[in-house]
Amino acid sequence: MTTATMEPKTLTTKSGKTWLRRTAKGQTDWRFWSQAFWTAITIWIGWEFYRFVKFYESGAVGVEPSRPPGVEAFLPISGLLGIRDWFVSGALNNIHPSATIILGLALLTSALWKKSFCGWVCPVGFISEAVATAGKTMHGWKGKLPKFVDWPLRSIKYLLLAFFVWAIFFQMTPQSLRTFIESPYNRVADIKMLRFFAHIDPTSLYIILSLVVLGFLISGFWCRFLCPYGALAALASFVAPWKITRKASACIDCNKCNIACPAHIPVAQLTRIRSDECNACMQCVAVCPSINALELSLPKGRAHMPRLATVLAVTGLFFVGIGVAMASGNWQNSITSDEYRRRIQEIDTSKYQHNRGEVPDYSPKD
Ligand code: SF4
Ligand code: SF4
Repeated sequence: MTTATMEPKTLTTKSGKTWLRRTAKGQTDWRFWSQAFWTAITIWIGWEFYRFVKFYESGAVGVEPSRPPGVEAFLPISGLLGIRDWFVSGALNNIHPSATIILGLALLTSALWKKSFCGWVCPVGFISEAVATAGKTMHGWKGKLPKFVDWPLRSIKYLLLAFFVWAIFFQMTPQSLRTFIESPYNRVADIKMLRFFAHIDPTSLYIILSLVVLGFLISGFWCRFLCPYGALAALASFVAPWKITRKASACIDCNKCNIACPAHIPVAQLTRIRSDECNACMQCVAVCPSINALELSLPKGRAHMPRLATVLAVTGLFFVGIGVAMASGNWQNSITSDEYRRRIQEIDTSKYQHNRGEVPDYSPKD
């Protein structure tokens, strides 16, 4: 993966403006490698978790595989429950602590470098982009919808997020929150999720395939319109001090950034990109021919971050956050092997169902 890089060459526009031009040379596309790295980690986590569940499903004979806590990245509602519980109790719950830590790190990176979690880390974002690229290559349409269609569709992810925030922060009492977190259902929510995908029913499969087809036709369909995790990251990104910043004095109004932006943001008409759709992908920066015209930076172009610095900062923050959680004993949950053995055997019973957040009555011994 290579893109243009910069070696200055002074030129003058027709209107007499002097500017420094980048010339093309190979440069590593750090964002691609960052996304590929996190996707590979996610696949490895999925495989390890599958082995862990299979071990108990098949009688728990032999050496027990370890459960990778990173699987809780796929429990965003547990992450949100954990944040509320943290506010209430002042401590991380020990059922799905890493769900809360991963959600917290996603929000922190977004609050620093726009939605960099979506653009540099999230494997779903990576796959969505790959599907969109394949679609654009085949049908040639950039997938930009008229505003009167785009705006209502973009609001769906915020409505979904509002529903979860309302249910968790305003409908649950501290007692019902604790009851839910400790419930048999929540203790095996990660295993139920795996089983959902391993034994997927035809309706769910059609829905997922429809989303892939829509992502093929309309660039970033899932991320732009439906993902509540992305909506939360977008809200955090409004306070980000690092934003894409255009320096009008160096800009030659070529419009290349507008054409390159997958989020359809009119970069060339703005000085600071505040849009909730900017995921700091830097495709606009990569195509900009004028040195210093466009950067991911603090206001007025200060402390700009090239792509290598961005990948080191975003990935580094995740590693530091997870390392601190491990060192402080907050990464692994407190569910023992004996408990997993027992629960996986009885997971299909009514004790492990829930109805719109309501869990069946259980005693602490359950
Ligand atoms: S191309 Fe630029 S403005 Fe558009 S989403 Fe990527 S970083 Fe943001
Ligand atoms: S790519 Fe955008 S910011 Fe860069 S010179 Fe062209 S219009 Fe200006």
